[in-house]
Amino acid sequence: MCGSNVFSRVLWLFLCCAIASCSPLTADRQANITSMLEQQADRVMALGEWEERWQQNKIGFHQPEVHKMLKKNIDKVLNGRTGVRFFFPLCGKAVDMKWLADMGHSVVGVEISEKAIRQFFEENNMTYTEEPVPAIPGAKVYKNSEKNISLYQCNLYNFSNSIEGQFGAIWDRGSLVAVNPGDREKYAALIISLMANDCRYLLDTLLYNPDLYQGPPFFVPDEQVHSLFGSSCGIELLQSEDALTDKQRNWGLDKFLENVHLITPKSN
Ligand code: SAH
Repeated sequence: MCGSNVFSRVLWLFLCCAIASCSPLTADRQANITSMLEQQADRVMALGEWEERWQQNKIGFHQPEVHKMLKKNIDKVLNGRTGVRFFFPLCGKAVDMKWLADMGHSVVGVEISEKAIRQFFEENNMTYTEEPVPAIPGAKVYKNSEKNISLYQCNLYNFSNSIEGQFGAIWDRGSLVAVNPGDREKYAALIISLMANDCRYLLDTLLYNPDLYQGPPFFVPDEQVHSLFGSSCGIELLQSEDALTDKQRNWGLDKFLENVHLITPKSN
């Protein structure tokens, strides 16, 4: 009796301390994140500005090697599956697409810059065909059928699941962090509509102080990943790495984190 009384007092004390210390912190943190998000909320990169970057070869986002966080987490994405259909939103000329295709997976990408798409095939010594996409006015699809890679040259928001169905995997690097912050809800709704029931969506986000750098890439806190995808998907933070290099130091940053999340539909 006496023992259980002591136990319940200790438990109560513990709970009071936890509530007293956690609640204000949570509220503070939320207010802090809201004000950090406001910092970049109105930033807009027009499609023409992206094209200009490609024309002027200002493509510092491109990596010549397969992304190390994709390599590290590929088994969790595949989850034992072979011949997976991968979607690459805002694909650029990511060499990760060839890496996956070489392993027998198929790849569909979307990219606004024709130059980026042509460079992808040419730099990887792949022949390709090009044809219009009747369902998307002005769009073209560039294909290498042997490797099963199809890259759509169009605005991502003109793409939908009626074009290529749904996907078993998505690799989102330089994509959610590149879209205009005001478009994130629209972007998330599109991505969710492209996820098959067994889809495993690997999302790479960046965390830094948005008072110091205006982006892109933009700051995307974990809390926002949860607010965008949490109602229909489970979210697991797989990796969080210090990714600060001289490039970010030159942007004026002294902290730069890269987070990788595995997002799966709740229905699965
Ligand atoms: N994921 C790639 C490229 C990241 S940079 C990588 O990791 O290397 C973002 C890319 O998205 C640029 O190549 C830009 O041309 C393209 N882009 C930006 N907005 C777009 C949009 N609304 N629709 C299609 N492509 C877009």
